[in-house]
Amino acid sequence: MLKDKVVIITGGTRGIGLETARTFAQNGAKVIIFGSREETVTKAIGTLKSEQLEATGFWPNLDDYQSIQEAISQIVAEHGRIDILVNNAGISASKPIEDTTPEEFDQIIDLNVRAMFYVTKAIVPTMKQQGNGVILNTSSMVSIYGQPAGVGYPTSKFAVNGMTKSLARELAPSGIRVNAVAPGITNTDMVAKLPEAMIAPLIKTIPLGRIGEPKDIANAFLFLASDLATYVTGEVLQVDGGARS
Ligand code: NAD
Repeated sequence: MLKDKVVIITGGTRGIGLETARTFAQNGAKVIIFGSREETVTKAIGTLKSEQLEATGFWPNLDDYQSIQEAISQIVAEHGRIDILVNNAGISASKPIEDTTPEEFDQIIDLNVRAMFYVTKAIVPTMKQQGNGVILNTSSMVSIYGQPAGVGYPTSKFAVNGMTKSLARELAPSGIRVNAVAPGITNTDMVAKLPEAMIAPLIKTIPLGRIGEPKDIANAFLFLASDLATYVTGEVLQVDGGARS
């Protein structure tokens, strides 16, 4: 479904990002993983290699626009194009507002929102020049109805939806589609860190009766990245087992 498409996946070293890298590579894409450290990027590439899947990687500092631009320039020099960007790197928090420091709030916004803007901004000129491209953002079900503690995280994901819908409008005339996937609770390290007291009652609210697997989210990204979705833009696709209803 993605034969020879050049794809960048941020936060591609584990969890939803790694599963998306795997799914896209299985579908013929040339996958480039962005991670925060050389060690984790190399490990993720090795994992895919052991499954006979190819990927390459970079570890730009997502706080630094110049570092991102340098990585993008290298990729364009090597591949000549970038077809798909998956903005997936993200962190969460679940502390009450009194216990959340200003620095912790900033950290979440910096990665989940500002870095998404930086990577997208660095890639758009290439996609515009091509006359086509797909940008996919990782939102969250908390962007629909908030969460009981950890206000920075839903705040950041509401912003992700705003960026998705606005850029979909701005970039549609250039042939670039922009969509997001809003996962429900998904079985990754991010969820393993959350207190059981927070997760157990949430599972009870999921009509399909289970938490999501990274593959559930990767398959949604695959659909939105593929030519099956050529008339879909500005969408925030909820993949949450019906938890929203
Ligand atoms: P994860 O913690 O397993 O993976 C997060 C990824 O982000 C990792 O690859 C990590 O290296 C990368 N990352 C973290 N800090 C970084 C930094 N400073 N610079 C660059 N990369 C950094 O989590 P996940 O569950 O796979 O989350 C992936 C995305 O899915 C996130 O945007 C998250 O908000 C979203 N999401 C997850 C869930 C869930 O329940 N797991 C639900 C909704 C949305």
